[in-house]
Amino acid sequence: MKPGAFFICGTDTEVGKSLVTAGLLKSLSRAGAVAGVVKAVQTGPELHDQNIYARACPGAAAQTLLHFQCPASPHLAAAAENAVIDLGRLAEEIERAVAGQGLTLIEGSGGLCSPLTDEATFLDLMIRLGYPVVLVIKNSLGAINQALLSVSALKNSGLAVRGLIFTRVSPAQAGEGLIQADNVKTIAHRTGLSVLADLPFLPALAGGRGSPPAWAELADHLAAAALELSNDRAAESAGHSREITAFDREHLWHPYAPVVNPPQVWPVARGAGNYLILPDGRRLLDGMASWWCAIHGHGRPELAAALREQAAVLPHAMFGGLTHEPAVRLGQALLKMVPPGLDKIFYCDSGSVAVEVALKMALQYWQGRGRPNKVKFIAPLGGYHGDTLGAMSVCDPVGGMHALFKNHLPQQIFVPRPAAPFGEAFNPDSTLELERAAARHHGQCAGLILEPIVQGAGGMWMYHPDYLRAAARICREHDLLLIFDEVATGFGRTGRLFAADWAGLTPDIMCLGKALTGGTLTLAATLATRTVAEGLSRGGGVLRHGPTFMANPLACRVALASLELLSGSPWSERVAALEQELRLGLAGCAASPAVAGVRVLGAIGVVEMKQPVNQGRLQKFLVEDCGVWLRPFGRLIYTMPPFTVTRPEARRLTGAISRAVEEGWA
Ligand SMILES: *Cc1c(COP(=O)(O)O)cnc(C)c1O
Repeated sequence: MKPGAFFICGTDTEVGKSLVTAGLLKSLSRAGAVAGVVKAVQTGPELHDQNIYARACPGAAAQTLLHFQCPASPHLAAAAENAVIDLGRLAEEIERAVAGQGLTLIEGSGGLCSPLTDEATFLDLMIRLGYPVVLVIKNSLGAINQALLSVSALKNSGLAVRGLIFTRVSPAQAGEGLIQADNVKTIAHRTGLSVLADLPFLPALAGGRGSPPAWAELADHLAAAALELSNDRAAESAGHSREITAFDREHLWHPYAPVVNPPQVWPVARGAGNYLILPDGRRLLDGMASWWCAIHGHGRPELAAALREQAAVLPHAMFGGLTHEPAVRLGQALLKMVPPGLDKIFYCDSGSVAVEVALKMALQYWQGRGRPNKVKFIAPLGGYHGDTLGAMSVCDPVGGMHALFKNHLPQQIFVPRPAAPFGEAFNPDSTLELERAAARHHGQCAGLILEPIVQGAGGMWMYHPDYLRAAARICREHDLLLIFDEVATGFGRTGRLFAADWAGLTPDIMCLGKALTGGTLTLAATLATRTVAEGLSRGGGVLRHGPTFMANPLACRVALASLELLSGSPWSERVAALEQELRLGLAGCAASPAVAGVRVLGAIGVVEMKQPVNQGRLQKFLVEDCGVWLRPFGRLIYTMPPFTVTRPEARRLTGAISRAVEEGWA
């Protein structure tokens, strides 16, 4: 196991952080551990901290990544040199430094909220990287306030605090002994964190200078802390993971997996940026955006903050007879984004339920219009719409395993999968079967339901926008409602905000889910035009649906924050860049005799094999050998990463897929 890294952070500037870092480095080196230090940003004329490390521990690996001359906070010092700190680059450089050495101590600058740019603080950088933290506290009056606020900020940001180190940077004043003893006790008690060291004042090291014996004394004081840091990760995380996976194996169901003799699952401890981090510190690049959801990556502070604030105000209230601002603000934001004409919003719990609601809307619409015999749906083969009974009935009958539930599922009418690939000349014959089915069955059909442009879980198939235009015409001509299931394709995934936008269409009903909350909470929505809403309301009809957690304020609030993140980001450029990388990176796979086809659209890249993949073996290879998280199924190896993955990260994903194909792991 790799030893990994710790942040060494202070509750403020001038708390003795550099001395602690230097002392830990010396202690670790003395104990034979391979250790190094990274100073992320140094301000002031000299490499002040790096010089301290060198004095304490000559010859140890130490590097300063950014250096600005002006002795001020990083954002100001950078500005004085007409520079702006690039958070993403700095994070990458830190990761590179950590990968290149044993246990790495990463020293911050100032306190947690020390600004790196006009927008971001040091804490934001830490959140991106997700390494555990050692908090250095100056033991004097005011320490309790600063320490509790810092620990709360760290915990709220999802960072693990490994322990506390108390320092004394000046001789104790009269009566200060009592305060200092109480500080340690109170802070340890209130935070529940362990005290790794309680350092005395060491006058011989004032100003970061001192003789070798003085540094040795500091290292002695920190020996126990160093030992704990170098040991605890391995032991604690291994034991913890074993317990987690053991219970899971015995008692927890996983999606589409046997509950008796289940296949391997990997415990995940936290998410940071584009990575899922395992308890042993391994970082897996999330090539699935956790099933289409985490479009902004993991652990976004904006989303966590929205959740926290809403949780403190109103986590839930029934929606029967009540309303609230999060539901309204989210609705306003959605109506600005969705195709024009969609006007009424029904919030529900999951994509499957959004589909159930859509089907019920369509059924009740025709009842309202006095045509109660219109009860079936037309759907293309190869579709996927969820796992509840109604949704399942319109899924691909083979992929959705209709045989298992034959006597429970409503019988629907299926037409061939849209045989008009995206990006090729449109074949008008591809809609003939649909036209025929509509003409024959419209008297007993309420509508046509499909996933526009990309059929997702049913086969990752991408088809021509003209198919949708033809489908819209056919629906109009035959009195069928057009239902778009955009649970997977919504919010930019295909390169347009909604897949419907490729055809410039507004469906009668549209389902949203998955990325709606940016991967934070389960929330979905079914939107309808005014015509549909008024049709089903005729004669006083109401939609017969009302989930307990309808419009849950927490979910609505975080969805709003996610939409704001999306709108405020260059998502369209990012998705275009990703499309380019996926195309380039996967093109080579097409040459393999084992591959049936390669398809890319927006931030979706697919390699279809000729034979079903060996999921267990392949996934193990991708995790253990490539450090990426992908979830191949059936004959498909595919990726739909967060929009925030960088070009090199996209290349890691396509590289892993290419290796899997070339080396025969699939
Ligand atoms: C995932 C998905 C669903 C079901 O959503 P859940 O939240 O899993 O119930 C429905 N339709 C499409 C197109 C999907 O991709």
